[in-house]
Amino acid sequence: MLLEVRGIRAGYEGIPVVFGIDLEIGDGEIVALLGSNGAGKTTTLRAISGMIPLMSGEIAFDGERIDGLAAEKIAQRGLLHVPEGRGLFPTLTVGDTLRLAAAMVGADDSAQRIADAIETFPRLAERDTQTVGTLSGGEQQMLALARGLIARPKLLMVDEMSQGLAPALVADLFERIEEFGRRGVSVLLVEQFVGQALGVAQRAYVLEKGEITYSGPSAKLAKDEAFVRGSYLGETNGKAPRPIREDHFTEPVTVSLPPALLRTLEERADREGVAVGDLIAKVIGTDEPKRKAPARRRRR
Ligand code: ATP
Repeated sequence: MLLEVRGIRAGYEGIPVVFGIDLEIGDGEIVALLGSNGAGKTTTLRAISGMIPLMSGEIAFDGERIDGLAAEKIAQRGLLHVPEGRGLFPTLTVGDTLRLAAAMVGADDSAQRIADAIETFPRLAERDTQTVGTLSGGEQQMLALARGLIARPKLLMVDEMSQGLAPALVADLFERIEEFGRRGVSVLLVEQFVGQALGVAQRAYVLEKGEITYSGPSAKLAKDEAFVRGSYLGETNGKAPRPIREDHFTEPVTVSLPPALLRTLEERADREGVAVGDLIAKVIGTDEPKRKAPARRRRR
Protein backbone atom coordinates (compact mmCIF):
# COMPACT_ATOMS: atom_id res chain seq x y z
CA MET A 1 0.00 0.00 0.00
CA LEU A 2 1.21 3.50 -0.82
CA LEU A 3 -0.68 5.15 2.02
CA GLU A 4 -1.72 3.42 5.23
CA VAL A 5 -3.64 5.43 7.79
CA ARG A 6 -4.33 3.67 11.07
CA GLY A 7 -6.69 4.91 13.74
CA ILE A 8 -6.02 8.62 13.40
CA ARG A 9 -7.68 11.16 15.65
CA ALA A 10 -7.27 14.82 14.81
CA GLY A 11 -9.04 18.10 15.39
CA TYR A 12 -8.64 21.62 16.59
CA GLU A 13 -7.72 23.17 19.94
CA GLY A 14 -7.62 19.78 21.65
CA ILE A 15 -11.08 18.73 20.44
CA PRO A 16 -11.05 15.77 18.02
CA VAL A 17 -13.32 15.97 14.96
CA VAL A 18 -12.20 12.70 13.35
CA PHE A 19 -12.01 9.56 15.45
CA GLY A 20 -10.02 6.46 14.60
CA ILE A 21 -9.89 6.82 10.81
CA ASP A 22 -8.43 3.85 8.90
CA LEU A 23 -7.74 4.43 5.22
CA GLU A 24 -5.54 2.88 2.53
CA ILE A 25 -4.53 3.83 -0.98
CA GLY A 26 -2.62 1.67 -3.43
CA ASP A 27 -0.25 2.70 -6.24
CA GLY A 28 -2.14 4.43 -9.05
CA GLU A 29 -5.42 3.97 -7.21
CA ILE A 30 -8.13 6.65 -7.22
CA VAL A 31 -10.07 6.74 -3.99
CA ALA A 32 -13.01 8.98 -3.07
CA LEU A 33 -13.57 10.31 0.45
CA LEU A 34 -17.20 11.36 0.73
CA GLY A 35 -19.52 12.63 3.41
CA SER A 36 -21.79 15.50 4.34
CA ASN A 37 -20.69 19.03 5.28
CA GLY A 38 -18.65 19.08 8.46
CA ALA A 39 -18.13 15.29 8.51
CA GLY A 40 -14.37 15.79 8.80
CA LYS A 41 -13.11 15.17 5.24
CA THR A 42 -10.90 18.27 5.07
CA THR A 43 -9.63 17.59 8.59
CA THR A 44 -8.64 14.06 7.51
CA LEU A 45 -6.68 15.43 4.54
CA ARG A 46 -5.02 18.06 6.73
CA ALA A 47 -3.99 15.41 9.25
CA ILE A 48 -2.52 13.17 6.53
CA SER A 49 -0.57 16.02 4.91
CA GLY A 50 0.81 17.21 8.27
CA MET A 51 -1.04 20.53 8.27
CA ILE A 52 -2.50 19.68 11.68
CA PRO A 53 -0.95 17.35 14.26
CA LEU A 54 -2.37 13.91 15.03
CA MET A 55 -3.84 13.32 18.48
CA SER A 56 -3.25 9.59 17.98
CA GLY A 57 -2.82 7.03 15.25
CA GLU A 58 -0.18 6.27 12.63
CA ILE A 59 0.40 7.13 8.99
CA ALA A 60 2.79 5.28 6.68
CA PHE A 61 3.54 6.55 3.18
CA ASP A 62 5.60 4.63 0.68
CA GLY A 63 6.71 2.24 3.41
CA GLU A 64 7.80 4.84 5.97
CA ARG A 65 6.11 6.53 8.91
CA ILE A 66 5.27 10.17 8.17
CA ASP A 67 3.14 11.08 11.18
CA GLY A 68 4.89 13.79 13.15
CA LEU A 69 6.80 15.10 10.11
CA ALA A 70 6.40 18.73 9.03
CA ALA A 71 4.04 19.32 6.09
CA GLU A 72 6.95 20.37 3.79
CA LYS A 73 8.81 17.12 4.51
CA ILE A 74 5.69 15.10 3.74
CA ALA A 75 5.21 17.01 0.47
CA GLN A 76 8.86 16.36 -0.46
CA ARG A 77 8.22 12.64 -0.13
CA GLY A 78 5.54 12.90 -2.81
CA LEU A 79 2.32 13.33 -0.86
CA LEU A 80 0.71 16.53 -2.09
CA HIS A 81 -2.41 18.25 -0.82
CA VAL A 82 -4.35 20.55 -3.18
CA PRO A 83 -6.52 22.36 -0.64
CA GLU A 84 -10.11 23.51 -0.91
CA GLY A 85 -9.97 27.09 -2.20
CA ARG A 86 -6.87 26.04 -4.19
CA GLY A 87 -4.23 27.80 -2.07
CA LEU A 88 -2.96 30.05 -4.88
CA PHE A 89 -1.49 33.56 -4.63
CA PRO A 90 -3.89 35.88 -6.52
CA THR A 91 -1.26 38.49 -7.44
CA LEU A 92 1.24 36.07 -9.01
CA THR A 93 1.05 35.31 -12.72
CA VAL A 94 0.32 31.80 -13.95
CA GLY A 95 3.89 31.44 -15.22
CA ASP A 96 5.40 32.63 -11.95
CA THR A 97 3.16 30.28 -9.97
CA LEU A 98 4.48 27.31 -11.93
CA ARG A 99 8.10 28.54 -11.86
CA LEU A 100 7.88 29.08 -8.10
CA ALA A 101 6.51 25.55 -7.64
CA ALA A 102 9.39 24.18 -9.72
CA ALA A 103 11.93 26.26 -7.76
CA MET A 104 10.57 24.88 -4.51
CA VAL A 105 11.04 21.33 -5.78
CA GLY A 106 14.62 22.30 -6.62
CA ALA A 107 15.05 19.66 -9.33
CA ASP A 108 17.36 20.35 -12.28
CA ASP A 109 14.65 19.54 -14.84
CA SER A 110 12.35 22.43 -13.87
CA ALA A 111 11.63 23.46 -17.47
CA GLN A 112 10.56 19.92 -18.37
CA ARG A 113 8.34 19.66 -15.29
CA ILE A 114 6.60 22.94 -16.16
CA ALA A 115 6.19 21.82 -19.78
CA ASP A 116 4.64 18.52 -18.62
CA ALA A 117 2.19 20.33 -16.34
CA ILE A 118 1.16 22.67 -19.14
CA GLU A 119 0.76 19.76 -21.53
CA THR A 120 -1.79 18.29 -19.11
CA PHE A 121 -3.63 21.63 -18.88
CA PRO A 122 -2.92 23.36 -22.23
CA ARG A 123 -5.23 26.26 -21.44
CA LEU A 124 -2.65 27.50 -18.95
CA ALA A 125 -0.14 28.13 -21.75
CA GLU A 126 -2.39 30.91 -23.07
CA ARG A 127 -2.53 32.46 -19.60
CA ASP A 128 1.19 32.64 -18.80
CA THR A 129 1.33 36.37 -17.98
CA GLN A 130 -2.16 36.64 -16.50
CA THR A 131 -2.44 37.08 -12.73
CA VAL A 132 -4.08 34.24 -10.83
CA GLY A 133 -6.77 36.48 -9.35
CA THR A 134 -8.13 37.24 -12.83
CA LEU A 135 -8.43 33.57 -13.89
CA SER A 136 -11.80 31.86 -13.97
CA GLY A 137 -12.54 29.38 -11.17
CA GLY A 138 -11.90 26.46 -13.51
CA GLU A 139 -8.59 27.87 -14.70
CA GLN A 140 -7.54 28.40 -11.09
CA GLN A 141 -8.35 24.78 -10.34
CA MET A 142 -6.33 23.65 -13.36
CA LEU A 143 -3.43 25.76 -12.13
CA ALA A 144 -3.67 24.30 -8.64
CA LEU A 145 -3.55 20.77 -10.07
CA ALA A 146 -0.76 21.68 -12.52
CA ARG A 147 1.27 23.17 -9.67
CA GLY A 148 0.78 19.93 -7.74
CA LEU A 149 1.95 17.85 -10.71
CA ILE A 150 5.24 19.76 -10.93
CA ALA A 151 6.40 18.00 -7.78
CA ARG A 152 5.71 14.66 -9.57
CA PRO A 153 3.74 13.41 -6.56
CA LYS A 154 3.03 9.77 -5.83
CA LEU A 155 -0.23 10.75 -4.17
CA LEU A 156 -2.34 13.83 -4.84
CA MET A 157 -5.06 14.66 -2.31
CA VAL A 158 -7.58 17.00 -3.93
CA ASP A 159 -10.17 18.77 -1.79
CA GLU A 160 -13.42 19.89 -3.47
CA MET A 161 -11.88 20.62 -6.88
CA SER A 162 -15.33 21.02 -8.47
CA GLN A 163 -16.64 23.60 -6.07
CA GLY A 164 -18.37 26.43 -7.92
CA LEU A 165 -17.46 25.15 -11.39
CA ALA A 166 -19.71 24.57 -14.40
CA PRO A 167 -20.57 20.91 -15.02
CA ALA A 168 -18.73 20.75 -18.38
CA LEU A 169 -15.54 21.92 -16.73
CA VAL A 170 -16.04 19.48 -13.89
CA ALA A 171 -16.30 16.65 -16.44
CA ASP A 172 -13.01 17.79 -17.96
CA LEU A 173 -11.26 17.85 -14.57
CA PHE A 174 -12.51 14.36 -13.75
CA GLU A 175 -10.99 13.15 -17.03
CA ARG A 176 -7.65 14.61 -15.96
CA ILE A 177 -7.93 12.84 -12.61
CA GLU A 178 -8.49 9.53 -14.41
CA GLU A 179 -5.42 10.28 -16.50
CA PHE A 180 -3.33 10.81 -13.34
CA GLY A 181 -4.39 7.35 -12.19
CA ARG A 182 -3.38 5.85 -15.56
CA ARG A 183 0.03 7.49 -15.20
CA GLY A 184 0.48 5.84 -11.80
CA VAL A 185 -0.28 8.87 -9.63
CA SER A 186 -2.63 7.88 -6.81
CA VAL A 187 -5.44 10.29 -6.00
CA LEU A 188 -7.53 10.84 -2.89
CA LEU A 189 -10.57 12.86 -3.92
CA VAL A 190 -12.85 14.79 -1.59
CA GLU A 191 -15.85 15.69 -3.73
CA GLN A 192 -19.37 17.08 -3.69
CA PHE A 193 -20.01 15.71 -7.19
CA VAL A 194 -20.56 12.29 -5.66
CA GLY A 195 -21.78 10.50 -8.79
CA GLN A 196 -18.78 11.64 -10.83
CA ALA A 197 -16.30 10.93 -8.04
CA LEU A 198 -17.63 7.38 -7.75
CA GLY A 199 -17.36 7.10 -11.54
CA VAL A 200 -13.58 7.69 -11.55
CA ALA A 201 -12.65 6.16 -8.18
CA GLN A 202 -12.06 2.45 -7.73
CA ARG A 203 -12.83 2.57 -4.02
CA ALA A 204 -14.60 4.95 -1.68
CA TYR A 205 -14.84 5.81 1.98
CA VAL A 206 -17.79 7.56 3.57
CA LEU A 207 -17.17 9.70 6.60
CA GLU A 208 -20.00 10.61 8.94
CA LYS A 209 -19.50 12.71 12.05
CA GLY A 210 -15.80 11.96 12.11
CA GLU A 211 -16.04 8.20 11.59
CA ILE A 212 -15.78 5.94 8.55
CA THR A 213 -19.16 4.35 7.91
CA TYR A 214 -18.44 2.79 4.49
CA SER A 215 -15.29 1.44 2.95
CA GLY A 216 -15.48 -0.55 -0.26
CA PRO A 217 -15.85 -0.52 -4.03
CA SER A 218 -17.16 2.70 -5.57
CA ALA A 219 -19.43 0.74 -7.89
CA LYS A 220 -21.32 -0.69 -4.92
CA LEU A 221 -21.82 2.75 -3.35
CA ALA A 222 -22.84 4.25 -6.72
CA LYS A 223 -25.78 1.82 -6.79
CA ASP A 224 -27.04 3.24 -3.49
CA GLU A 225 -29.26 5.92 -4.99
CA ALA A 226 -30.37 7.17 -1.60
CA PHE A 227 -26.74 7.81 -0.65
CA VAL A 228 -25.81 9.50 -3.92
CA ARG A 229 -28.93 11.69 -3.80
CA GLY A 230 -28.74 12.36 -0.08
CA SER A 231 -25.18 13.62 -0.41
CA TYR A 232 -26.42 16.85 -1.92
CA LEU A 233 -27.86 19.19 0.67
CA GLY A 234 -31.18 20.44 -0.61
CA GLU A 235 -31.22 18.13 -3.61
CA THR A 236 -34.58 16.53 -2.86
CA ASN A 237 -36.08 18.91 -0.32
CA GLY A 238 -39.16 16.80 0.03
CA LYS A 239 -39.84 16.89 -3.72
CA ALA A 240 -39.75 13.86 -5.97
CA PRO A 241 -36.09 12.91 -6.45
CA ARG A 242 -34.57 13.69 -9.80
CA PRO A 243 -33.75 10.57 -11.81
CA ILE A 244 -30.05 9.76 -11.88
CA ARG A 245 -28.55 9.07 -15.28
CA GLU A 246 -24.92 8.16 -15.54
CA ASP A 247 -24.45 10.19 -18.69
CA HIS A 248 -26.07 13.28 -17.25
CA PHE A 249 -24.36 15.84 -15.06
CA THR A 250 -26.59 17.24 -12.38
CA GLU A 251 -25.28 20.33 -10.69
CA PRO A 252 -25.48 19.93 -6.91
CA VAL A 253 -27.11 22.67 -4.91
CA THR A 254 -24.16 23.65 -2.77
CA VAL A 255 -25.06 25.52 0.37
CA SER A 256 -21.92 26.36 2.32
CA LEU A 257 -22.92 26.81 5.91
CA PRO A 258 -20.76 26.66 9.02
CA PRO A 259 -21.39 23.19 10.53
CA ALA A 260 -22.59 24.69 13.82
CA LEU A 261 -25.23 26.74 11.96
CA LEU A 262 -26.17 23.70 9.91
CA ARG A 263 -26.70 21.66 13.09
CA THR A 264 -28.84 24.45 14.56
CA LEU A 265 -30.93 24.52 11.39
CA GLU A 266 -31.27 20.73 11.44
CA GLU A 267 -32.46 20.78 15.04
CA ARG A 268 -34.97 23.51 14.23
CA ALA A 269 -36.12 21.65 11.11
CA ASP A 270 -36.68 18.53 13.23
CA ARG A 271 -38.67 20.52 15.78
CA GLU A 272 -40.80 22.15 13.08
CA GLY A 273 -41.20 18.93 11.09
CA VAL A 274 -39.85 20.39 7.84
CA ALA A 275 -36.87 19.47 5.65
CA VAL A 276 -33.69 21.51 6.23
CA GLY A 277 -33.69 22.79 2.65
CA ASP A 278 -37.25 24.02 3.06
CA LEU A 279 -36.35 25.73 6.31
CA ILE A 280 -33.46 27.52 4.59
CA ALA A 281 -35.81 28.54 1.78
CA LYS A 282 -38.18 29.90 4.40
CA VAL A 283 -35.39 31.79 6.19
CA ILE A 284 -34.18 33.41 2.95
CA GLY A 285 -37.78 33.98 1.89
CA THR A 286 -37.90 31.96 -1.34
CA ASP A 287 -40.36 29.25 -0.44
CA GLU A 288 -43.07 28.15 1.94
CA PRO A 289 -42.03 25.15 4.08
CA LYS A 290 -43.79 21.90 3.33
CA ARG A 291 -44.63 19.25 5.91
CA LYS A 292 -41.93 16.64 5.82
CA ALA A 293 -42.88 12.97 5.62
CA PRO A 294 -40.88 11.02 8.24
CA ALA A 295 -39.42 8.76 5.54
CA ARG A 296 -37.84 11.79 3.87
CA ARG A 297 -35.54 12.60 6.80
CA ARG A 298 -32.19 13.57 5.36
CA ARG A 299 -29.30 11.23 6.12
CA ARG A 300 -26.40 12.62 8.14
P1 ATP B 1 -17.12 20.46 4.22
O1 ATP B 1 -17.64 19.54 3.20
O2 ATP B 1 -18.14 21.40 4.76
O3 ATP B 1 -15.83 21.14 3.87
P2 ATP B 1 -15.67 18.55 5.87
O4 ATP B 1 -16.20 17.15 5.89
O5 ATP B 1 -14.47 18.80 5.04
O6 ATP B 1 -16.84 19.53 5.51
P3 ATP B 1 -14.16 19.68 8.04
O7 ATP B 1 -13.86 20.93 7.30
O8 ATP B 1 -13.09 18.68 8.24
O9 ATP B 1 -15.40 18.93 7.39
O10 ATP B 1 -14.77 20.08 9.45
C1 ATP B 1 -15.04 19.14 10.48
C2 ATP B 1 -15.32 19.91 11.76
O11 ATP B 1 -14.13 20.59 12.18
C3 ATP B 1 -16.40 20.96 11.62
O12 ATP B 1 -17.21 20.92 12.78
C4 ATP B 1 -15.62 22.27 11.53
O13 ATP B 1 -16.35 23.33 12.09
C5 ATP B 1 -14.39 21.97 12.36
N1 ATP B 1 -13.24 22.74 11.86
C6 ATP B 1 -12.75 22.73 10.60
N2 ATP B 1 -11.67 23.54 10.49
C7 ATP B 1 -11.50 24.09 11.73
C8 ATP B 1 -10.54 25.02 12.28
N3 ATP B 1 -9.55 25.53 11.53
N4 ATP B 1 -10.68 25.35 13.58
C9 ATP B 1 -11.66 24.82 14.34
N5 ATP B 1 -12.57 23.94 13.89
C10 ATP B 1 -12.50 23.58 12.60
